Amino acid sequence: MVLTQDQIEAIRARLAHDLEETKRELARIDEQVRSVGESDDDSPHGVDNHPGDEADVLFEQERLLSVRERLADRQALILLALEKMDRGKYGYCEECGRPIAPERLEALPFARYCIECQSKIDQQQGGRW
Ligand SMILES: [Zn+2]
Repeated sequence: MVLTQDQIEAIRARLAHDLEETKRELARIDEQVRSVGESDDDSPHGVDNHPGDEADVLFEQERLLSVRERLADRQALILLALEKMDRGKYGYCEECGRPIAPERLEALPFARYCIECQSKIDQQQGGRW
């Protein structure tokens, strides 16, 4: 075991905090997505609807949705890391089962793979982390 129980608890606290932040951000983005969509309702007959505005709205919606996707991914990874802690699997690579370097976990608490496996995965799929 490379991480002490104390270290794991410290990381758990960080992850829990991260999770709260991510949830808040998601709620904020959802709110923004809604309000961007609703701005059309101000001119129900389309009288003041300039095509340019519509393109802006679409662009803004797309931008928000891509931010939202990243946040949702992050939330899923945090939940996964917390679940691994509960199962006593935290800190081990999901690919090769070896311990993940503590420095890596410090930098990226929700890392799923050790550096070796991560770089292999990155080469295969142009991975995200
Ligand atoms: Zn590995």
